[in-house]
Amino acid sequence: MTMPYYSIGEIHTLLVSRETSAEALCRDYLERIEKINPEINAYITTDPDGALNAARAVDRLLAAGEDLHPLAGVPAIIKDNICTRMLRTTCGSRILGQFVPPYSATVVERVNAVHGVILGKGNMDEFGMGSSNENSAFGPARNPWDPTRVTGGSSGGPAAAVAANIAVWGLGSDTGGSIRTPASFCGVVGMKPTYGRVSRYGLVAYASSLDQIGPFAASVEDVAIAMNCISGYDPADSTSARTSVPDFCAGLKKGVRGLKIGLPREYFGEGIRPEVSAAVMAAAAKLSDQGAECTEISLPHTEYALAAYYIIAPAEASSNLARYDGVSYGSRIDGDDIIAMSCKTRSRLFGMEVQRRIMLGTYVLSSGYYDAYYLRALKIRRLIKGDFDRAFASVDAIIAPVVPDVAFRIGEKTDDPLTMYMTDVCTIPVNMAGLPSLAIPCGLVDGLPVGLQIIGRPMAEAEILQIGHCAEQIIGFAGIANKTKAGAL
Ligand code: GLN
Repeated sequence: MTMPYYSIGEIHTLLVSRETSAEALCRDYLERIEKINPEINAYITTDPDGALNAARAVDRLLAAGEDLHPLAGVPAIIKDNICTRMLRTTCGSRILGQFVPPYSATVVERVNAVHGVILGKGNMDEFGMGSSNENSAFGPARNPWDPTRVTGGSSGGPAAAVAANIAVWGLGSDTGGSIRTPASFCGVVGMKPTYGRVSRYGLVAYASSLDQIGPFAASVEDVAIAMNCISGYDPADSTSARTSVPDFCAGLKKGVRGLKIGLPREYFGEGIRPEVSAAVMAAAAKLSDQGAECTEISLPHTEYALAAYYIIAPAEASSNLARYDGVSYGSRIDGDDIIAMSCKTRSRLFGMEVQRRIMLGTYVLSSGYYDAYYLRALKIRRLIKGDFDRAFASVDAIIAPVVPDVAFRIGEKTDDPLTMYMTDVCTIPVNMAGLPSLAIPCGLVDGLPVGLQIIGRPMAEAEILQIGHCAEQIIGFAGIANKTKAGAL
């Protein structure tokens, strides 16, 4: 069946006015998933029973005359590295192919507490390692704009599901761009919150000093609604911040008059496709027309970020992934002794990219190389943070491309890891500095979406959502997701 791209607010109105029931809506989405998911491969696992039970609970609340939270009854997809109690959580890996968590992540508890409806688990690059979703043990997710192309990664499933209208919103995680890149490639909105803004409890760790959970949706307002639900201190995550959480929807319509916006020259030069730079610049010019003051700035250590990231992230991953030894949990391949068992388990059940990262990470942490690689990368991280601190002394937000180009073809970059890593040049510095960043669509190149990122000061999600909302209105991209091929089905 065809289905309009409902916003969260529209669904809330439909439910409260009793024009539809949460159960009927849930059934419609489940039916669409059956029809569309075989081509798009956005879901690794669906949970029809759990979703319908949650939807029926919403209908009971309505019948009892209770007030509904805006997310109540709204169908969502959760990336498959976020634990869901009694629902398989694979991380896109064979090693966790049968893993059913005994508990839910804090963000999932929060979605359940407001009676959200979780349709299933989103496809992803194995353990979040990748930029295209091609490193999934469950096959690549496919871009709803053109299924021969990648969705971007690693949270390809949630981004594609929102773009194909087989979920209204979703949760992903972003270690080096994994929310923003797929948002950009799929023409949807995605936010990587400040490190510490959202609890990571129950997020399967990739690189713990960089990982952060955040939302996807078709509009900035919907992302703000989701942020209101998932943000805030969690005693179960010692890195979650005690900072108070504002209402992210309150200031959305305040406009951009008087705001200072920096355009870092390092993000518009070599390696960035000129048409992509032009689309981002055009959006900045429109924000200037609305009263923002756009100026060129410099973030001089940008060129070192990628190399430093691909030392720090694998180093942390090599430690985090040591727990998959075939003993305590995860799948196992038996061997003659414990060493043989562990070797077989790890070499056969981890994919090639994950094994590459473990080897890289182990190498850079080994004695003799620790100082030359890992320690030096940490120093670069500090310099990158310093660049942003200096910039934010004179500007309120920074605008840059999300990815250097539009979505590439499936298979185009799989043989060349370094070219694949280059996909992340504009997103990685933000994770290194722990900053919030919002990705929104800002135009089409070759008929495919181009993204714009708005980077803010620590904990300034409300400000970048405000700028993003204004940009979304004047760019006129909102709702264009209707034009995706799968979305029109
Ligand atoms: N592409 C990057 C990587 O492979 C970032 C992925 C992510 O943010 N999880 O590490």
